Amino acid sequence: MDKKITQKITVWLLPLITIGGLFFPLLGYLVLFMMISLFSLSYFRARFWCWHLCPRGAFLDIVLSKLSLKHKLPAVFSDKRFKWVIFFLFMAVFIIQFIKADKNIYTIGFVFVRMCLVTTLIAIVTGVPFISRAWCVICPMGTLQAKINSFNKKKRQV
Ligand code: SF4
Repeated sequence: MDKKITQKITVWLLPLITIGGLFFPLLGYLVLFMMISLFSLSYFRARFWCWHLCPRGAFLDIVLSKLSLKHKLPAVFSDKRFKWVIFFLFMAVFIIQFIKADKNIYTIGFVFVRMCLVTTLIAIVTGVPFISRAWCVICPMGTLQAKINSFNKKKRQV
């Protein structure tokens, strides 16, 4: 299916999770489902998820690109070490919140909602002055997808 069509569909999942999830935390489990999907896909096609299916990626392309000032990204964004620092920071915060949730399904759902909300806010804050997909350059999910794909000898990028 054409990227523009899939993005017009998946983009609606972002407000559903970040706004709807504030009232119905179980919507956060959609994020878990998406994480499983993107990691499975990434072995075969590194960034297929990012360019075609990711709700936040779709939001950045459809909405934020119209507001973005498109200034050049600071060099640190393309530093691999910086990307992995962001990744481990993200994972540490996620694991701490997960442990604190104490096996409560609503609280765990809200952990996913909050992570999605916070990272979306960072994506907006970085996407307005810089390129709209600035967050995607350092997104922990993107970093891990690229790593998983590196294990596939017959890999494709998108
Ligand atoms: S890099 Fe992250 S936010 Fe960007 S499209 Fe991929 S998964 Fe979505």
